[in-house]
Amino acid sequence: MDFDRAHLWHPYTSALEPLPTYPVASAQGVHLRLADGRELVDGMSSWWCAIHGYNHPALNEAVTAQLNQVAHVMFGGLTHEPAIRLGQQLLELAPPGLEHVFFADSGSVSVEVAIKMALQFWSAQGQPARKRLLTIRGGYHGDTFGAMAVCDPVTGMHERFSGTLPEQFFAPRPDSRFGEPLRSGELDDMAALLTAHADEIAAVILEPIVQGAGGMWFYSADYLAGVQELCREFDVLLIADEIATGFGRTGRMFACEHAGITPDILCLGKALTGGYLSLAATLATRRVAQGIEADGGVLMHGPTFMGNPLACAVAGRSIELLQQSDWQEDVGRIEAQLREELAVYAEHPAVADVRVLGAIGVVELYEPVEMAQAQRRFVEAGVWVRPFGRLVYLMPPYIIESTDLAQLTAAIRLVLE
Ligand SMILES: *Cc1c(COP(=O)(O)O)cnc(C)c1O
Repeated sequence: MDFDRAHLWHPYTSALEPLPTYPVASAQGVHLRLADGRELVDGMSSWWCAIHGYNHPALNEAVTAQLNQVAHVMFGGLTHEPAIRLGQQLLELAPPGLEHVFFADSGSVSVEVAIKMALQFWSAQGQPARKRLLTIRGGYHGDTFGAMAVCDPVTGMHERFSGTLPEQFFAPRPDSRFGEPLRSGELDDMAALLTAHADEIAAVILEPIVQGAGGMWFYSADYLAGVQELCREFDVLLIADEIATGFGRTGRMFACEHAGITPDILCLGKALTGGYLSLAATLATRRVAQGIEADGGVLMHGPTFMGNPLACAVAGRSIELLQQSDWQEDVGRIEAQLREELAVYAEHPAVADVRVLGAIGVVELYEPVEMAQAQRRFVEAGVWVRPFGRLVYLMPPYIIESTDLAQLTAAIRLVLE
C-alpha cells in the first residue's frame, strides 16, 4: 500500500498527494472484497464493464480454455477462431448495415480508429479538406488526443492542451430529455455549423442517447434521429460512440436502437468483454470500407494487441451469456427500482436533478462532492460508489439483486449531508 501511494498513478489523481485507494483482494458476483475482509456492493460495474458481475464461472472458463490454446498472436497475416466468432456476433447484434469490424485494444483507440476511418474516407474521395469533426458539448470520447479533442471543451480540459489538440466544432448539448420530443429549433445550431462548414467536416461524432463521463445526460431520441438526417443531408459521416451504452445498459442492446438509426461508424468497448480484458471494436458500413480504399489506400492502423485471442474469447462468451439471459428484464427491473428509490432525493435541497435510464441512475447535486470523504463514507456503508464532480451515479451489474441495489440507493443519502 505504501508503494502504491508513493509510486503508482491512479486515474485523474495526483501522484504526489493522492486520495486514499482501497485494496481489492477478490470479487464475486456484485461484491468486491477488500484486503481487510470488508465486502462492498459494487455500484459502478468497474466503469460500465462488469455487466455479469465478477468471477463469473463461464467467463473464467472462456479465458482459461483460450489460455491453453494460445494467449496472443499478431493479427497481421494471422487470424483465429475467437476473433472470427466475435466479429460474427457483433455484426449480427449491431444495427443493420454495419459490415466491417476493426478490433482495437481500448475504447479511446477505437475512437481514434473511427476518426481515422472518416478522415481517410474523405481524403480517398478527393476531399482532403474534410478533416474536422463536429460534436455536441458534454461528450466524453476518451483520453487520447484525437478523442480528447471531441470531449466537452470545459470538462475535457482543452485549455491544458491548447495548441496541440485539433480544434473541432461544438454544437450545444441537447436540451430535450430522453422520452421528450425534440424542442423547436433544437437542431438549429448543428444545422448552422453544417451549413457553414460541411466542406471541412469529415464526421459528426456523439454518444447516442446517454452522454457518460461528460455529464451523465440522457437526451431525446428525436435529437439523435435528427442528427442522422442532417448528416445525410450534408453528406457527413456519423460516428456513434457506444463504448459506454453498448450491450444493454440503456434498455436496448445499443442506444442507437432508441432512434432506429445505423451510424456509418460505431465504437464499442467497456462491457464488450464483460469487464475481463481490454478490448474495443470499431464497426463500419460497406460504404465506409469501400470509400477508404477508393484511392487504392488501406486503413492505416494496426495495434500490437489487435484482436487479442483471450479478449476475443471472453467477449464472445460474454455476449452469449447476455443473449441467453433475460437482460432486458434485469435492466427493466433495475430501472424501476432506481426510479422508485432515487425519487426521494429529488426533493432534497442539495439535489439539482434525479434521472434514470435503463440500469443507470444519476443524482446531480448543486455542489461538487468532497471525494475523499464521500469514498470513505460509502466504503463504511458497505458500497462502492465513486462520484465525480456534482454527479453521484449508479450503474450496477445487471445481475444485482434488489436488496443489494437498495443498499446502493440508500447510501447516496450519505453524501447529501
Ligand atoms: C470510456 C469511454 C471511452 C474511452 O474508453 P477507454 O477504454 O477508457 O479508452 C470512450 N468513449 C466513451 C463514451 C466512454 O465511455
